[in-house]
Amino acid sequence: MSRLVVISNRVAVPKARGAAGAQGGLAGALNSALKENGGIWFGWSGGEVDEFTGEISLQSADGVTTATMDLASQDVEEYYNGYANSTLWPLFHYRIDLTEYEREFGKGYERVNERFAQSAAPLIEEGDMVWVHDYHLLPLGQRLRARGLKNRIGFFLHIPWPPTRLFVSLPYHERLVRTMLDYDLIGFQTQEWLESFLHYCRKELGAQVDEDSGRIAFEGRIVHARAYPIGIDYDHLQQQASTGEARQAGQRLLSSTRRRTAMLGVDRLDYSKGLPERIDGISRFFDQNPDRVRDLVYIQIAPPSREDVASYRKIRQELEQKTGQINGARSEVDLVPIRYVNKGHSLAELCGFYRAAKIGLVTPLRDGMNLVAKEYIAAQDPEDPGVLILSRFAGAAMQMPEAVLVNPHSPDDVSHAIKQALDMPTEEKKRRYNALIKTVRQDNVQRWTENFTSDLAALPRT
Ligand code: UDP
Repeated sequence: MSRLVVISNRVAVPKARGAAGAQGGLAGALNSALKENGGIWFGWSGGEVDEFTGEISLQSADGVTTATMDLASQDVEEYYNGYANSTLWPLFHYRIDLTEYEREFGKGYERVNERFAQSAAPLIEEGDMVWVHDYHLLPLGQRLRARGLKNRIGFFLHIPWPPTRLFVSLPYHERLVRTMLDYDLIGFQTQEWLESFLHYCRKELGAQVDEDSGRIAFEGRIVHARAYPIGIDYDHLQQQASTGEARQAGQRLLSSTRRRTAMLGVDRLDYSKGLPERIDGISRFFDQNPDRVRDLVYIQIAPPSREDVASYRKIRQELEQKTGQINGARSEVDLVPIRYVNKGHSLAELCGFYRAAKIGLVTPLRDGMNLVAKEYIAAQDPEDPGVLILSRFAGAAMQMPEAVLVNPHSPDDVSHAIKQALDMPTEEKKRRYNALIKTVRQDNVQRWTENFTSDLAALPRT
């Protein structure tokens, strides 16, 4: 088996692992894949310096080497806060209204991708398999090829790929996609995003596309594009769910809600998560079912995110305002219908909350996958499972049709789903849960890593 080199914007360095040495999710899965093959994980350290030096800091632990570099403050502003999070992120989540097209952002993005190539290339040996991750590094494959790399290089996009009609609003869109065709394998979360990408290649680039196999032929190159829906680290989650920390967190939540049904939302504070729309849906439920206001308490865990970007500061204000309005209108001395927690929690605590909450409300307007939906199911008590209400616009909805699927833009739809969940007979809850848990357990993150890397290894190099 060849050595694996993972390249992503940030690196989950081994010292960030928990006391037990365990690390879950994507970081855990990639680290175990790297460990098996004695690999390297390269990326930005998260540190900022005045001038970029290209100095690399190497660390080895458990058979995995991490290599990180600092970026210049201007790089962080233009590449990370700028092009990645103010241009690509909103556009790829179908929000052209929030997309900023600044020339400097584009230049910074190209410059930093070149910095990544320059620093990573010397670490890559002949025969290594390279796996590049996410929207920060779309052109990296091409930059590596320009340095003479003949290795197999794969790319996985963790976020959606927008429909062609939206994507063409990006200046230099063609140049960007052309750079991607230097990868050997491109992975998407769902069939829908894959189809949008193939459509673009056919319509805009005139590439020869075989929709069934995902084979793209363009200017003498052959690229394969396929869907690989990411999963959770099921075993790690089970282990976290059985800790004292998880039990305590669950008990705290239950004792504070008394006999009311706890409904839970866990989302980074991001406009793609549909938080104000969700609050509107809950408010509609209270309007339509005034006799049930006392039956329900909604808990929203929303750790702040990307606060250097203006649209993120705005969404926070909007959410605080809406929550305040509803609580103002609906609260009694002994009742506050919505609790809004503006900080992050450990996975163990989340597992306790997930299990204590009899309704999980996951309603992004658009989401590459959404792991919270899968974690919520994985943490349930099989004898008394809760109900997952899930946006049909989350990638996870494709694999989780047994959830109560909703249109997150429709307050009536969300309100109706909440009522349905509150009134759902136990037999139906169990039937839905049994189907969902099967997928969540089987299509886990380890399987995702294996599927992608074995497909990449099996492709002929052209
Ligand atoms: N998460 C966490 N603590 C929190 C809130 C979220 O550890 O307080 C984790 C959560 O367990 C999940 C991830 O953050 O694994 C969120 O992933 P998701 O795919 O749902 O959304 P993203 O934030 O990647 O857009």
